[in-house]
Amino acid sequence: MLPMALAVAGALASLAAGCALPQRDGDVTAGFWFEPVSYESRVLGGSLTAADVDAIATVAREELAIAFDGFRITLSERRDARYRVRVVRELVSEAMHRKTWIAGHTFVSGFGGAGEVSFLYFASGAQAYAPPDLPRSELIAAIGRGIGRGAAHEFAHLIGYAAHSSRDRGSYEYHAASRPEQYFGPMHWETARPVLEKRLGRRVMEAGLEAQSDQQLIRDTRARSNAAIAAHDIAGIARAWVNDIHVVSSTSTQTTGSQANQQAFAQQFKNRPDTIYVRTPATIDVYAPWDVASERGTWVGRWTEPDGRLEIGGTYQAQWRKVDGQWLIQAELYVPTHCRGSKYCNQRP
Ligand SMILES: [Zn+2]
Repeated sequence: MLPMALAVAGALASLAAGCALPQRDGDVTAGFWFEPVSYESRVLGGSLTAADVDAIATVAREELAIAFDGFRITLSERRDARYRVRVVRELVSEAMHRKTWIAGHTFVSGFGGAGEVSFLYFASGAQAYAPPDLPRSELIAAIGRGIGRGAAHEFAHLIGYAAHSSRDRGSYEYHAASRPEQYFGPMHWETARPVLEKRLGRRVMEAGLEAQSDQQLIRDTRARSNAAIAAHDIAGIARAWVNDIHVVSSTSTQTTGSQANQQAFAQQFKNRPDTIYVRTPATIDVYAPWDVASERGTWVGRWTEPDGRLEIGGTYQAQWRKVDGQWLIQAELYVPTHCRGSKYCNQRP
């Protein structure tokens, strides 16, 4: 059980990896999800749109996946997971005889437990610590990072880390979320790491499991690619590609080469500033002798058209190649199977 003072000071926590990740044998289950939230500020130009909240949730899930990468824990959106953290609009503490907005807190029970993190706290914090003139899309991503790292902090409490002994401001365990490191730059585990390793265990990477670890590397790279798209970080998107990548888009446009595909993303973000694409792998098959892999899954894209909010999605396949030990995308083929919300859907653009 967390002492009240610690629970109040607590800042972050979370997890999330999308419901497509299969439950692994022996893994502990973690559920992370967003309750309906609303937020508006002048800095963000008014109210957050549904697409903004989608982008924030995507980044938060990726942050959680990064925090728990290598531990035996399966992230999902399941409300019945052993450990659960949900994002709520705001959290207010009445402790210390005054009303205080807090970042997060946890309730540990006999088997597992639940926690909450505050959307309002991290949305305000990202703006407070943002460098001047930060583009709006990067501010949106910073809110997602703040929430995801806040959730990682709360999950650590739920898993058994009761102290706040880290003095390292760049650590997830640091006692307060009121710091720029919560939103910007990399973050790491410090004093909580031994507790997490003991309670969760590390994934075993033996020779026989090499294909499995290759699959995980590909999933991780895909997750980083999704996060880069959510942040409109074109260099980050291109980091997952070989130089002569070939993409067949949902509209049957074919684009070859990293430069041309980066320009295509830049054009899309310029014309449709709230664009988000999420690719969710279902199966990954590795053919090790050729250092090649197949990824198949579902994709969804959302943005605002003049006549409404569009959602398009379908299936995709990617060919991955292992180049100097790193898995990179050689080709992607996207096929739409549904589209709604705009006359864009009526005829191929
Ligand atoms: Zn805490």
